[in-house]
Amino acid sequence: MKVRLEAIRKSYGKTIALQNIGLEIEEGEFFFLLGPSGCGKTTLLRLLAGFEEADSGRILFDGREMKGVPPEKRNSGMVFQNYALWPHMTVGENVAFGLEVRGVSSKECLSRVQEALDLVHLGEYIDRRPVQLSGGQQQRVALARALVIRPELVLLDEPLSNLDARLRLEMRSEIRSLIKDLGHTAVYVTHDQKEALAMADRCAILRDGNIEQIGTPKELYCQPANRFTAEFLGETNFLAAQVLEKESGSGLYLLKLKDLDLTWRGASNQPLTGGQQVLVSIRPEAIRISEGPIEGMNLLPAVRSKSVYLGEVTQHTFVAVENGQVSLQLLELHSSDLPEGPVHLCAAPADTVILS
Ligand code: ATP
Repeated sequence: MKVRLEAIRKSYGKTIALQNIGLEIEEGEFFFLLGPSGCGKTTLLRLLAGFEEADSGRILFDGREMKGVPPEKRNSGMVFQNYALWPHMTVGENVAFGLEVRGVSSKECLSRVQEALDLVHLGEYIDRRPVQLSGGQQQRVALARALVIRPELVLLDEPLSNLDARLRLEMRSEIRSLIKDLGHTAVYVTHDQKEALAMADRCAILRDGNIEQIGTPKELYCQPANRFTAEFLGETNFLAAQVLEKESGSGLYLLKLKDLDLTWRGASNQPLTGGQQVLVSIRPEAIRISEGPIEGMNLLPAVRSKSVYLGEVTQHTFVAVENGQVSLQLLELHSSDLPEGPVHLCAAPADTVILS
């Protein structure tokens, strides 16, 4: 199923939950809504499910407008954060519920319930009650209950947030494989950027009821459009700069770093004009240490001010030799003996992202 949202607006009294949401989700796409608490992602999912109606705008499933179509007629299956299983029913009865209300015969019901439970590796738990299952198993039952109706759209609202860290990691790839193997269009809500980066085909970053940016995980992480997206998706360094001019041929921009007598080259998705004040983002892992300049790389002569051991990596802070106010953080996979004196920090122009 293809999903299209046009100019969706939703408010609760004076609170505007969604301002002007427009996006398209392709058939078979695993699409994520990512953003901090209160940004409107659950509201958007509930609008898709049909639990709420938008104040204005249109929701289209395969070109068909959904206004006034109740949840059970939308052919979507929802997985809730708190599982929402009925404690008095067995696992099998929980999963069968959606089929029974749709009038599926008891013989077919039984085989489809077994098939759905087998899919989530819980075929042998059909007669247990939810209380006799672990959190991860309960979440799998919730997934089976959503999938058993063979939905064209699967909606998942922070399905992993009640699980411990190790199980969350395991379930990430399990859910993604399942959804992709079945070929469902799916929309997944989370505030966990690592979950979104690891699982999504594409993702929309939301803030205060608006979409800040839509892209693949790599596009969003490597080419953030603005400061919010850059910071929300992970650690980064910001440097203030002024645009000098566009370089002919490469498409890169020449920049003068603020407070430093250095010219760098950076990449931008937006057209920029000479003299414009901008912010540049460089991810810590994109910075290398070199004892001398490297052709074609942006360079900053700097000296190490501190190092913090983080387990899998060590994070170093360097300050510019010429101007101690400019500092950059970088990561090293293995903490090596770094020179005590000045070094050159190097970053590729493609990793020097000019934000709008
Ligand atoms: P979280 O990650 O904390 O669940 P969210 O991004 O899913 O947050 P929403 O639950 O969609 O955010 O809420 C968006 C805004 O709308 C918030 O300011 C919230 O307080 C408000 N809101 C949501 N539901 C209601 C409601 N039923 N009545 C009043 N305000 C609501």
